[in-house]
Amino acid sequence: MVSLWRRSLQFRVVALTMVLGTLVLAGVGSYLYQRVADGLVEERRIGASAEVIQLAAKAQLQLGGSNDQRDTTDGLVIAAKNTVQSIAGTEGSRYVVLARSDNNTVTDAILPPIVSGDEVGLVSIPAELQQKVAGSPATQQTQIITLRLSNDTDVTPAWVIGQQITVSGAGPYGLYFIYPMTRERDTLSLVGRTFLVGGIVLMFLIVGISYVVTRLVVAPVRRAAEVAERFASGALNDRMTVRGEDDLARLAQAFNGMAASLQQQIAQLENLSRFQQRFVSDVSHELRTPLTTIRMAGDLIHDSRADFDPTVSRSAELLHNELDRFESLLSDLLEISRFDAGAAVLDLEPTDLRRSVARVVDATASLAERKSTRIDIEEPDHPCEAEIDPRRVERIIRNLLVNAIEHGEGRPIEIRVGEDDSAVAVSVRDHGLGLRPGEAAMVFNRFWRADPARARTTGGTGLGLAISLEDARLHDGWLQAWGTPGTGSCFRLTLPKVPREPLERSPLPLNPLVPSSPSSTPPPVAPAGSLTHGGLPVGLPPDPGAQTAGTRGSGGQS
Ligand code: ADP
Repeated sequence: MVSLWRRSLQFRVVALTMVLGTLVLAGVGSYLYQRVADGLVEERRIGASAEVIQLAAKAQLQLGGSNDQRDTTDGLVIAAKNTVQSIAGTEGSRYVVLARSDNNTVTDAILPPIVSGDEVGLVSIPAELQQKVAGSPATQQTQIITLRLSNDTDVTPAWVIGQQITVSGAGPYGLYFIYPMTRERDTLSLVGRTFLVGGIVLMFLIVGISYVVTRLVVAPVRRAAEVAERFASGALNDRMTVRGEDDLARLAQAFNGMAASLQQQIAQLENLSRFQQRFVSDVSHELRTPLTTIRMAGDLIHDSRADFDPTVSRSAELLHNELDRFESLLSDLLEISRFDAGAAVLDLEPTDLRRSVARVVDATASLAERKSTRIDIEEPDHPCEAEIDPRRVERIIRNLLVNAIEHGEGRPIEIRVGEDDSAVAVSVRDHGLGLRPGEAAMVFNRFWRADPARARTTGGTGLGLAISLEDARLHDGWLQAWGTPGTGSCFRLTLPKVPREPLERSPLPLNPLVPSSPSSTPPPVAPAGSLTHGGLPVGLPPDPGAQTAGTRGSGGQS
């Protein structure tokens, strides 16, 4: 329900309309009900009051004058009873009670309370009203009471109207008229039921109308969102249908205009990017032939350097080294071009990751020796097998290890191999310069170097980690970096055991300082192929995600 409230505008509008509608209807309904009730009660009071004036006058006339029969108390009682009966209403429309007033001092004849029916008695008349009647004999007093009549299950409100009369020979007596408001109560309950049913019907109508109206507005917005989502996921030809000339039609037109302009710009950038990729690829291919010739000539000069004088011999040496670097730069560029062109394919075979690590360590042993770097390997004693392309995976590990040796300042390097149910991983940890904050997110950028001026002893094209990242992505794996200045860095490669199986976690921690927390968060994924050089895109359109692709933040993350 909460998520529906957050996600659906239509649900929110309908729910709010229902709540507000109920409040308004309940407020208006109870106000009208109260007005009707007040009107009915007041009308009854006015009618009854006028009637009482006449009836009291009649009673006063009958009981006020002298009469032989009323000389005795019994005679008086009979006369009073007759009078009370004569002014009582028919079928319980009005009851009459005659009771001695509080201010009556006559003791010769004392009449008992006389009532016109069994339903009421002196108890029905509030003492307060009796006192008021005795207190102001000239005026009529009214009060509302509730009665429970024998033929009715509910209590009935009733008006009691009291007035004082003088009974000849017996002094002042209060004459009370009780008007049960049964009819008014029934009318009012009918009005209440009608209001309730009407309110519910109105509520459904309002909710239905708000549903239909919001649907009219929300449906095109939803369609726009769907088209926008499809557009974002690559269906650049998708457009909204424009119907009519209203605001929604204008929204659709504006959206379509934006989509067309975006598509045009993307197409331009794609063309540019394709052109640049082709250019890089063509230049690399074109350079290969002259380079081979130069290489052969260079090798010849290099081989005969002993015959030259020392300066020329040194130049031959330099030429040879630079030709090595030129060759590896060219082959890296050609490799990157293959990734960009989508021509890179995996040559999968079941491989024990420990054997790949062993082969790479063997191959880099001489470099490690030159740098006096010890390499420690920590691996399970059972095979860590996965369906991978061993050539590419070894290239990644070699890159990581060579980098660790180069930047490790001669301190020992730890290689760890691990596996779990769904993935295998290898991490290369050095204790060298480490990475400054933010650098872990940049090491995979093409041509990025922490210190471009640093003297390089091996390789150093600045494309090594970019190629490694592409290789890892080709396996649907992760390549992530961690490092802090002074403590060294750790690079971790995680690969699914079964190709294309999405990774959920890595068997090894990325941050070696928090060894018990293997990463379960995938790195941000960006489309391959953004070739950046000196901040200027020279490959696919620049993608902000590509800057951090395959990495997790530096320092302290695992
Ligand atoms: P290259 O090593 O050819 O310069 P890479 O892509 O392999 O290119 O590395 C890019 C940059 O990342 C390096 O120049 C270096 O600044 C940084 N880097 C890579 N590995 C490490 C490491 N283990 N320690 C510190 N910095 C590293």
